[in-house]
Amino acid sequence: MIKVEKLNKSFGDLHVLKDINITVKESDVVCLIGASGSGKSTLLRCLNFLELKDSGNIIFEGEKVEKETHDLNKVREKVGMVFQHFHLFPHMTVLENVMEAPLHVKRQPKDQVKKDAQELLKKVGLSDKENVYPSKLSGGQKQRVAIARALAMKPDIMLFDEPTSALDPELVGEVLSTMKELALEGMTMVVVTHEMGFAREVADWAVYMHDGRIVEVGHPEDLFNSPREQRTKNFLDSVL
Ligand code: ATP
Ligand code: MG
Repeated sequence: MIKVEKLNKSFGDLHVLKDINITVKESDVVCLIGASGSGKSTLLRCLNFLELKDSGNIIFEGEKVEKETHDLNKVREKVGMVFQHFHLFPHMTVLENVMEAPLHVKRQPKDQVKKDAQELLKKVGLSDKENVYPSKLSGGQKQRVAIARALAMKPDIMLFDEPTSALDPELVGEVLSTMKELALEGMTMVVVTHEMGFAREVADWAVYMHDGRIVEVGHPEDLFNSPREQRTKNFLDSVL
């Protein structure tokens, strides 16, 4: 579980996150929507401690995480992240990409890491690509490797930042179905996406952000069909 209380974050004079409150419970799937620049990526990056908050609390599994008292690298191991642009290691095979972190960050035994990685590649439907380099994969395949790589650290929560928006339309479905499978297995997920179909089908609730604030929270069906706030309405009109 992750709980955010009154989180604020600025870049210089730009106040990007304003008093964000959000609680993501175990097995929740949350979709985060909002216009470009509203702070979605910054919020995910704060949840992953890639960005440090200016004020407020981030409570992860019951512990208030602070850079002064916690090894953020250690906490980050429990928070998987998948980006729009994959960020695979180009000089490593698919299998090596998935093995890298458990092997070199967690220092787990190689035999076990390899077995786990092969299992994960099977799960994302890429067993036949183990020994291939990322440059030989389609965007959808690259993203599924990125998901397997994040899962290899056995995270408690997975964050996805527009995982399908760099993909050709015909490749979006395979990534969304991998994510859906993960959700059905009970993974806790926060997903920035404009895939409203996915949000409706998979998300337990949706969050609309505008100008650094959470404006509206609700079940996807309610939020999309009958938003309470005019700002949410305007945004939905522009994307649906
Ligand atoms: P998009 O839909 O385009 O991805 P977003 O909702 O993810 O947008 P963020 O990337 O969180 O928005 O950015 C929010 C604001 O913070 C933007 O105005 C952006 O320019 C600014 N910003 C983000 N990261 C930095 C940074 N490292 N330094 C300075 N400004 C930043
Ligand atoms: Mg973003």
